[in-house]
Amino acid sequence: MSLDAATITAWMTEIESSVRAERDHLIQLDAAIGDGDHGTNMARGFEAVVQALGQDTGSGPGRLLVVAGRTLVSTVGGASGPLWGSALRAGGRILGDEATFDASQLVDVLATALASIKDLGTAKLGDKTMVDALEPAVDTLRERVTAGDALDVALDAAGAAAEAGMRATIPLQARKGRASYLGERSVGHQDPGATSTALIVRALQRAVGKQ
Ligand code: ADP
Ligand code: MG
Repeated sequence: MSLDAATITAWMTEIESSVRAERDHLIQLDAAIGDGDHGTNMARGFEAVVQALGQDTGSGPGRLLVVAGRTLVSTVGGASGPLWGSALRAGGRILGDEATFDASQLVDVLATALASIKDLGTAKLGDKTMVDALEPAVDTLRERVTAGDALDVALDAAGAAAEAGMRATIPLQARKGRASYLGERSVGHQDPGATSTALIVRALQRAVGKQ
């Protein structure tokens, strides 16, 4: 399957509509263990991304991801903006100026995005952050693509892994970000960033499914 600029635009559009639909839920989750702005941050950020990509005609997929990342950094004040912003920028850079990319390059984009988030935020698996959803998704996607599964099947498994990782944040105590200030009181709540990350992975599955 050949992926291209339209895949990236579709991915960002799918993220925008799902974070908008889940905005209040993300706000509630962040109100419980943070400052309640995560739904607003993600909705505002991806609305700006869709707008920016709408004005960008003729760019390749790598360039579009870089523009998306830069837009998130400049429009989102919370931790999630710089983290996802640098992730998309780093992921876009590895695609270079090519017009198309394949499934294994998509794995590389997501793995690079994860590495960038871990680098910037210094969170490890189990710290109750977005990493807890993204890392299992990337690992699963890589395994399935390497095993020769069709990309839509591999992405479905990655989406399920992200959701399992998201749910697994509930019993954890936060060790990074604002929720970590609560100490043991962060236990028993699902991490908002892991929740939006699962939406981002499912959005990718839908975007690729539309190709
Ligand atoms: P803020 O915490 O600044 O209000 P958001 O509410 O938009 O920003 O995002 C909160 C989410 O960001 C958390 O639920 C968590 O998943 C993620 N997060 C916070 N700090 C880190 C970090 N250091 N590394 C990875 N993810 C983080
Ligand atoms: Mg917040």
